Amino acid sequence: MYRKVYQWGTGYSNRPGTSLEPVILPERNPGVGEVRIRVTACGVCRTDLHVVDGELAAAALPIIPGHEIVGRVDALGEGVTHLKLGQRVGVPWLGYTCGVCIFCTMGRENLCDRPLFTGYTRDGGYATSVIADARYTFDLGEGGDDASLAPLLCAGLIGWRSLVMAGDGQLLGLYGFGAAAHALSDGAGERARIAHLRDHFEMALKQAIPETVIFGVTQDRLCSTSCFAVPGLAAETALIGLDLDGVAMSSGSTCSSGKVAVSHVLAAMGVADSLAAGGLRASFGWSSTMEDVAAAVASLVKLRERAPQRSKDPQGSLGKSEAA
Ligand SMILES: [Zn+2]
Ligand SMILES: [Zn+2]
Repeated sequence: MYRKVYQWGTGYSNRPGTSLEPVILPERNPGVGEVRIRVTACGVCRTDLHVVDGELAAAALPIIPGHEIVGRVDALGEGVTHLKLGQRVGVPWLGYTCGVCIFCTMGRENLCDRPLFTGYTRDGGYATSVIADARYTFDLGEGGDDASLAPLLCAGLIGWRSLVMAGDGQLLGLYGFGAAAHALSDGAGERARIAHLRDHFEMALKQAIPETVIFGVTQDRLCSTSCFAVPGLAAETALIGLDLDGVAMSSGSTCSSGKVAVSHVLAAMGVADSLAAGGLRASFGWSSTMEDVAAAVASLVKLRERAPQRSKDPQGSLGKSEAA
């Protein structure tokens, strides 16, 4: 039994921007906790283009891209009981997590310290078949055609998660270079209050750490977000843990784990790598208060003070995988 895959990174596809190379490989059998899926459709995400443009930190080559996989289970590995042969399933970008790191045990496995990403650090869906971790293989039911379901496995999944997390009647911001950005609000008063918090945050941060760079102040922007960089402070995993009650901080821009070394969005905006490496986003919402803003600034000051020590750490995040 054989499978046909479309891979990037070896043969004639060994340079950024080259087309994928079709290759015939022996079929694989699923291991413990895995399934084999006969692929019927696989979407193309911007991240796939980052992969073939060589813009993501080196993963083992060749790479079989594709992380919006739709298909039918055609072999079950040992211990898989919740999926059936012939079942229509989908596989997203996050294809494996360790289950034991601090983020996994908190139920925030999207921030796992040792994740594998479909179509990047594990085989993706531009193939006739793929082996997937059964924990990251989702039942799709029988409604809708395969091709139109595929984009739901990345863009759809992220959008839906954000919508659910936003709750009822709250402020919702949609970002993206690929899609138009919309801001929905249930009231101008609330919007003004949040914009005031954001401006206060930026002013307080500038005062505390004068070399802070705030991005986008000369453009229209969402009232609920501030993008900034503190020179000397890399956007690290530690910062993602800086999730205060009312001010959430994240580094980079990602459809995956949030662990981005250099934000490709900031790079596309023309922000120098040295700053983009420290690019962070603070998000303010209906529950944010002045106290949260003060706590967020204090945390950043503390991290800044500790930054020189951390930069000597060879395991620092700049060596970690980048994912868009
Ligand atoms: Zn994607
Ligand atoms: Zn983990």
